[in-house]
Amino acid sequence: MTGLGWKTRALLAFVILVAGICLWFANSILLSRFSEAAETRAELRLEGYKNDILETIRRNGLLPELLATDPVFLSLLESQDLDAIKSRMNVFAKRETNSSFLISDQDGVILATVPEGLDGARVIEGDAFTASLLDDGPQFTVQTGSGGNPEFIFSQSIRENADLIGMVFSILPLQSVAATWSGEGDAVAVFDAQGRAILATDSLWLNSTETEMLNLRSADSAIRRANRLAQNLPVEADDPFVRGREVVRRELDLGFQGWRIIGFSTLDGVRQQVNGALALVLTFFAFLLALIFFFSSRSSALQALGFQRESEELKTLNARLQNEISGRQRAEKELQVAEQTIEQSSKLAALGEMAAAVSHELNQPLSAMRTYLAGAKMLLERSRTNEALSSFQRIDDLIGRMGSITGQLKTHARKGGEDHQPVNVEDAINGALEIMGMAFSENSVALTRTFPPQNVYILGDQARLEQVLINLFRNALDAMKERGTGKIDVLLVVGNEAKIVVRDDGPGIENLDDLFEPFYTTKTASEGVGLGLAISSGIISDFGGGLSAFNGEPTGAVFEIVLPIMSVSEKS
Ligand code: ADP
Repeated sequence: MTGLGWKTRALLAFVILVAGICLWFANSILLSRFSEAAETRAELRLEGYKNDILETIRRNGLLPELLATDPVFLSLLESQDLDAIKSRMNVFAKRETNSSFLISDQDGVILATVPEGLDGARVIEGDAFTASLLDDGPQFTVQTGSGGNPEFIFSQSIRENADLIGMVFSILPLQSVAATWSGEGDAVAVFDAQGRAILATDSLWLNSTETEMLNLRSADSAIRRANRLAQNLPVEADDPFVRGREVVRRELDLGFQGWRIIGFSTLDGVRQQVNGALALVLTFFAFLLALIFFFSSRSSALQALGFQRESEELKTLNARLQNEISGRQRAEKELQVAEQTIEQSSKLAALGEMAAAVSHELNQPLSAMRTYLAGAKMLLERSRTNEALSSFQRIDDLIGRMGSITGQLKTHARKGGEDHQPVNVEDAINGALEIMGMAFSENSVALTRTFPPQNVYILGDQARLEQVLINLFRNALDAMKERGTGKIDVLLVVGNEAKIVVRDDGPGIENLDDLFEPFYTTKTASEGVGLGLAISSGIISDFGGGLSAFNGEPTGAVFEIVLPIMSVSEKS
């Protein structure tokens, strides 16, 4: 039941309730209907018993009268021909009845009996004889017969010319008629006008009133006994059926001698019939319950199937997501590879660009040198030594220029991010200024330096930071050289980052766009090669910072180096 939903449970409870109500109604309705039918049947049976008796009385009652008035029989009786009398009696007996009867003379001497050899002494000595003597007409007498049982006799005096010549007695077989009633399952008794049982399906009841007889044996017991006798089953001496059942009593007037017939019957069959019908109702509801169980388990099975299908769909979805994720991971890896390839290619491209620029810069002095050498050779052949010497001087200058190019590149090539160390920025600035000291004083440069109250440390390389600063100072110096005097301000500012500012009051920067391009220079070949700022910018980027430039107000160039601070400490 645990697997059933509340709807199914409610339905089951409802069906069981309806089944209970239906059974109750069916029981009461069927019981009354079947009882009615059983009672009607019992009434009809009792009517039948009544008819049995009346019919037996009618047929046997006529016989004595018929014989007494039969002229043939009368003449035979007169002649006392006994054999002829018997055969005439048999003719009547066969025609009318299966009862026994006898003929006596006027003194009660038995002349003949049917069947032959019938003990007629009882009859002659009893009330029947007396009754027929008193009256001419047919007489009906109930007298005590053998074993104390009532005997039913019709008698008729036979007279010739008013003289009594004999008597006819017909003994009615009413006891055997009553015996047949037991087979119907009823207990029946016939009472005479005095209320004594003269006929009964149970011999114990004979000769007693209704109350007496029921005390002797209850109607229920009598019915059972009758049934057992009818089925040839042994009947106990003591009634084993002590428990009473419902017994229906019916009574009819026989319309003969003030007799009444009373029948007792049980409604056992009714209960069985009702139970049979109730079993059908129960079967119907059991079938209904089975149907409900069947459909509910079917719907549960369908639900389970739905869940299974859903979980399978989820599994498929999961697998698809997994595929998608691994696809994305693959694509990411491919992207990384592509990015690395692009980086590599751009590095290679930059290298190629650099190589092309360097070879161009070196080719120029080399071809110039070749020209000067050819000229010097010609001059020496013509013994123009002085002119040849000046050519050699030029060649020497060119070699110097090439040396400075390769020198700068060599410094740049040394760079590497791995060996960065804490650098005190102020120390680096002072170091660079110290190297530049002589040159500043020769060129009458006024120098101001402004430092913060703390020591500022960045992560990098002091020598290379000094190289950058020296390059900036030298450029400032070059810019102011023509004027013969100048002013350089150096500032170190601490905020989120460390900022070094180098400001001069020279003419300013001509071309800000190409300033950091390699080999961009406005100087003569002997003064500069245009690699200083390109290399400086590279070094500062390597430290994780940036180098920028702009023109100052009203004049001069301003260079700013911004570097990430590693730490700041108070000056001791
Ligand atoms: P080089 O000094 O060999 O020319 P740099 O890369 O150091 O190479 O400088 C490139 C150019 O930038 C210089 O030729 C110059 O024109 C310009 N420049 C650099 N510093 C200054 C400055 N302080 N004032 C004016 N121009 C400058």
